[in-house]
Amino acid sequence: MSKSIHFSTKLIKETVAVDPQTGAANVPVYLSSTFHQKNFDQYGKYDYTRSGNPTREALEDAIASLEGGARGFAFASGMAAISAAFLLLSAGDHAVVPKNVYGGTFRILTQVLGRFGIDHTFVDTTNLAEVERAVRPNTKVIYVETPSNPTLAVTDIRAIAAVAKAHRCLTFVDNTFMTPVFQRPLELGADLVLHSATKFISGHSDVVAGLAVARTEELADKIYFLQNALGAVLGVQDSWLLLRGLKTLDVRIRKSAASAQRVAEFFTEQVEARNVFYPGLPNHPGAELHAKQSTSGGAVLSFELENEAAARAFVNHVKLPVFAVSLGAVESILSYPPKMSHAELNEGEREEAGIGSGLLRLSVGLEDAEDLIGDFSHALDYVRNQVKVTARSVDY
Ligand SMILES: *Cc1c(COP(=O)(O)O)cnc(C)c1O
Repeated sequence: MSKSIHFSTKLIKETVAVDPQTGAANVPVYLSSTFHQKNFDQYGKYDYTRSGNPTREALEDAIASLEGGARGFAFASGMAAISAAFLLLSAGDHAVVPKNVYGGTFRILTQVLGRFGIDHTFVDTTNLAEVERAVRPNTKVIYVETPSNPTLAVTDIRAIAAVAKAHRCLTFVDNTFMTPVFQRPLELGADLVLHSATKFISGHSDVVAGLAVARTEELADKIYFLQNALGAVLGVQDSWLLLRGLKTLDVRIRKSAASAQRVAEFFTEQVEARNVFYPGLPNHPGAELHAKQSTSGGAVLSFELENEAAARAFVNHVKLPVFAVSLGAVESILSYPPKMSHAELNEGEREEAGIGSGLLRLSVGLEDAEDLIGDFSHALDYVRNQVKVTARSVDY
């Protein structure tokens, strides 16, 4: 395919495939676990759906092309994809992982992989010197999640990939927050891209799925072996739903990101917001670096209100977003990390990770930005009154 076409064109080309038999404009849903072999000695391309299925393969080919890798793989969840990736390691191997890595990734490292002799060191990946210091002779992987959750800290993918290369390790990047629309880690030197496709790629809060894309055929063969061996493949109908979600990924995430920028700017002007974390804000500590590796601040931001009571008042008075875990959907999703994604950390650990008790994370959906801002403005009025009430009761 010509290099000069735009990403949005490529997205449609890769996800719309005219069926040669019927002319159907969409990839058929091949709900079949097994495939008849026409010849006693020569078997066809497909034999059993755990090993390969044409609908799943259409999705895998699409994500591979969009991320610019050799091959893609669809898994039953983001965690299934991430777990398979870590199972490239063997007993005695070591991984360098961000301190503020996604909770599920933290859990498999600390509670599962250790039992099999796979070791890890948690570091602040935004600090290159700290990453370098953590690398050991047995380190096989440096893991990156950028921007991070929920404070949107930015890690330099190119620099990490260079460190990894110098030490003969692989670089894995969880690209869930940016998607290939805004950030393509393989082009920056990473070896493997991982996604919770449950989020932006599905986009409608209706599928749990994971994707992995390997830069080289060599790595792809190893991932394929694990995908088939472990068996945590994405179901056929969910594969089709992801293909459908992918088609509108570009328009969805661009609109959401444009609104997120406006919402983030709105919060910076509110006295009730002590902190606003969004890599599209010029005063965000990682803004400059982020702009070098991504084309947008994305659709997720977080902001810190005075305390838990203020966060509660805000959540109780907003009308548009759902209050839930997850992100990356058509509807805005507001979540409270201290009791949701980061509930497993104690208060000290949370404070250290920059997750104050008034912190709320917002994934901006496709509602009109002005309506969202109106809704938040109204909820902040309640926060203001509630804080005043607290102040008065203290005075008395
Ligand atoms: C949700 C999420 C995951 C885990 O994906 P699941 O689909 O829930 O298994 C991994 N990484 C990030 C950044 C996520 O947001």
